[in-house]
Amino acid sequence: MTGSVFRFAPSPNGELHLGHAYSALLNFDLACEAGGRFLLRIEDIDTTRCTPEFEAGIYRDLEWLGISWEEPVRRQSEHSADYAEALDRLIDEDLVYPAFMSRGDIRSHIADMEASGASWPRDPDGAPLYPALDKHLPQRERRRRMADGAPFAWRLDMEAAVERVGGGLFWREEGFGPAMETGEISARPAEWGDVVIARKETPTSYHLAVVVDDALQGVTNVVRGRDLFRATAVHRLLQELLGLPVPAYFHHDLVLGEDGRKLSKSRRDTGISALREAGMTPADIRRLVGLPPFTASA
Ligand code: GLU
Repeated sequence: MTGSVFRFAPSPNGELHLGHAYSALLNFDLACEAGGRFLLRIEDIDTTRCTPEFEAGIYRDLEWLGISWEEPVRRQSEHSADYAEALDRLIDEDLVYPAFMSRGDIRSHIADMEASGASWPRDPDGAPLYPALDKHLPQRERRRRMADGAPFAWRLDMEAAVERVGGGLFWREEGFGPAMETGEISARPAEWGDVVIARKETPTSYHLAVVVDDALQGVTNVVRGRDLFRATAVHRLLQELLGLPVPAYFHHDLVLGEDGRKLSKSRRDTGISALREAGMTPADIRRLVGLPPFTASA
């Protein structure tokens, strides 16, 4: 499989933990086995949470684990123009709209609706779907609010987007979903509602940046945690709308803590640097996450 391109795409908003180590090592091993390339991408669009210290920690921890990557590393914060271009295309095609409801507005709208007995639909992560009220605002009113400097997010008009691509949106799953789904997976993006594509002050959302970057970097194999399995439906939809190539997906097991819950970046005890300071070796980490000893000579 020469020509395969894998990537590990952490956000520098906390320290890497065992779950990240597993994902990075698995990507690296698969790239080596395939005689392919391994890329590192820094997903630092959220400038309020990402720091240079955490980014430096990522390089230090990955190097210590024995991973090497191609330079230059793509840092999302340096590529706003690429996301803006994709966003402009969606704006031109009327597939996104400026959404002005604040978090508080959304909460109270949903509370009102639920007070009358109906339960509000939730996305696969359990968050309430966006009440798409301002999808129907007249153009003039949109322009007026934007000119007045009102905060807004560009949201995907999910209904229009799904209609545009028609049925039959699939991806090839080489791992497993939460219900052990594998093989050809039928994507159901509509269950996410009108997702955020960009914000007034941030040129992109995770969903837009990930599909634009995977395409620009020629990524052929997306290997990442199972927590992103359902979000892949949104990525497939965006790829289709933007005419981007489709990688194969492999959603891997999550490394769980002793309490059986997903590891968090704020828990120091499973942080790679804490484990290193406690005397663990990279080989210990591989064993801990269930990977065989290093054989690759990359
Ligand atoms: N940046 C994402 C994270 O840290 C990973 C995105 C991806 O692999 O698609 O969870």
